[in-house]
Amino acid sequence: MAASHHTSPFRVRRRRAGARVPLAVSLCAALLLGTPVTAPAAGGTAVAHAARTAGPAPATVNPLPSLPPVFTAGSTAVLVNKSHPLNPLRYAPADLVNARSSGSYLRSEAAGALNSLFNAAANAGHGLAVVSGYRSYDTQAALYDYYVRTYGQAYADTISAKPGYSEHQTGLAVDIGNAGGSCGLSTCFGETPAGRWVAANAYRYGFIVRYPNGYSGTTGYSYEPWHLRYIGPTIAADMRARSYPTLEHYFAGNPAAGATIKSGSDLVAVNSAGQLLRYAAGSGKYLPPTVIGGGWSNLKQGFVVDWNADGVYDLLAQWKDGKLGYYRGRAAGGFEAQRAVGWGWGDMTITVGKMNRSHKYPGVLGFKPDGALRYYPNTSGGALSTFAIVGWGWGGRTITLADWNNDGNNDILSQAPGGALLYYRGNGTGGVAASTAIGWGWHTMNVLAPSFGFSGIGTRGLTARKNDGTLYYYGFGNGSWAPARVVGNGWGPMQVFK
Ligand SMILES: [Zn+2]
Repeated sequence: MAASHHTSPFRVRRRRAGARVPLAVSLCAALLLGTPVTAPAAGGTAVAHAARTAGPAPATVNPLPSLPPVFTAGSTAVLVNKSHPLNPLRYAPADLVNARSSGSYLRSEAAGALNSLFNAAANAGHGLAVVSGYRSYDTQAALYDYYVRTYGQAYADTISAKPGYSEHQTGLAVDIGNAGGSCGLSTCFGETPAGRWVAANAYRYGFIVRYPNGYSGTTGYSYEPWHLRYIGPTIAADMRARSYPTLEHYFAGNPAAGATIKSGSDLVAVNSAGQLLRYAAGSGKYLPPTVIGGGWSNLKQGFVVDWNADGVYDLLAQWKDGKLGYYRGRAAGGFEAQRAVGWGWGDMTITVGKMNRSHKYPGVLGFKPDGALRYYPNTSGGALSTFAIVGWGWGGRTITLADWNNDGNNDILSQAPGGALLYYRGNGTGGVAASTAIGWGWHTMNVLAPSFGFSGIGTRGLTARKNDGTLYYYGFGNGSWAPARVVGNGWGPMQVFK
């Protein structure tokens, strides 16, 4: 099963970088210049890769949900569906307000966001109306009984929820329609200009179309373009950026509940004894570690990544002897034996992630001392294929892939020798734009590891280690920093995965 595919970074045609400043070029420009150089041919058998599990593949940056589903009735992120009722079943929110004076009630945060949504729709020329908001347990019970009497239980269950199981009981769900009343509570609303505008823009105000077309098998409900659910702008934007079609996919689609590395917020590191340690995050800090492996002393750099896109985090190890190895994570915990991804990587500075949003698997981005930045796609969930040149002049730099501006494409963050932290916006097709400085004084940091969900659902940031061994967490939003926090001390001897 082990791959003998030597994707060696050798045989590179040298190209002089004229400037000392790293130069970023788009992939198409590189092709016009006649560069990407062919990588060595595959030497052996292909890696057998796992069959895809059902469900759509989240397209972009972080392939896995950040945190487990939320079942707290009063949380704006609460997951309510046919298998997860409200707890308590007779939950009633305490902060209901009359949404837009419509006579329908929503929790105040959701009502405020709905106001913004309706105002923006009006500015775009679309008149909307509130049709239905909060429904109490008793109201829902009466409604459900009516549908059962009228249509029979089987059909009633596809259009109505049992009391305690309705999103409308959260005060966070609202049915809307055209101001003129056309296509009211009908799927044709989704094809009206207003319905289209809502589907495309609701996320900006923290709403999602909760029951999208084609996902009744997941949500349990037929397509309802009129039923919006407020989940807050952070999760709504995160779902959109990562192409999750439903809240069920976002939360409960995580097959990694039993896996060794459960979250994008987990930090993995090797201690001076060569032990592999996992630090789970909880409440914005790292919890005491568990030992998840041994014999890792000769590691050059390690990465936590879902290499085969099966929804379970794997480990990629760059060894000092130049071997690049892949440890496939098991859904039930532990890892399979190492498979070789390639050799000759000893003098490369690398990181992992997708440079191209249409790619299914994350690849490797890196440079040798010659400073040519190369992206090696991973086309099979196993070995790497021919690289493309992304830029020149990267010798002596650091590279971290993260979605700094939150557009769903990975960007490159890099520490320049003078201490500036540079941001190269990724275009989602393999190239990056020219750099912008987004920080100074970063020469005192020797690790930058991207993190997902450390400060709550949908949050993104960097875990960074200072030269004195202090560990910091720097959250970032849509191209701006949150205040840094110290999250650990004495990390100097640790080899931190990136
Ligand atoms: Zn509804």
